[in-house]
Amino acid sequence: MDQYSDITLKCRDCGNDFVFTAGEQQFYAEKGFTNKPSRCPSCRAAYKSSRDSSLSYSSGGGSYGGGGSYGGGSRGERQMYPAVCDECGRETMVPFQPSGNKPVYCSDCFANRRQQSSYSRY
Ligand SMILES: [Zn+2]
Ligand SMILES: [Zn+2]
Repeated sequence: MDQYSDITLKCRDCGNDFVFTAGEQQFYAEKGFTNKPSRCPSCRAAYKSSRDSSLSYSSGGGSYGGGGSYGGGSRGERQMYPAVCDECGRETMVPFQPSGNKPVYCSDCFANRRQQSSYSRY
């Protein structure tokens, strides 16, 4: 095994000295890279992020285990069933299992009907 030791390099972009650590040298060697890094870590990161910004690469982006809006945790929540409104034909969710022999209304139509029936003059 080769013994690596930290070496100081000068960044091509910003001109600052930076340390090419033994660990990094080993990493480079394992990856088969023969070139020393020509940029300091921060310039490298900037270069990389500008290059593959399109593939938002593990760059802190959420989306990991976020779960999204489909939180299925229906614990304590009312179970809702998909149904088609008898009145307007829109898909809706109702808090009971649609049995088929009773009309199902979406919340709008339900409210409408309630209003109508309570007004029922004629
Ligand atoms: Zn730099
Ligand atoms: Zn409806």
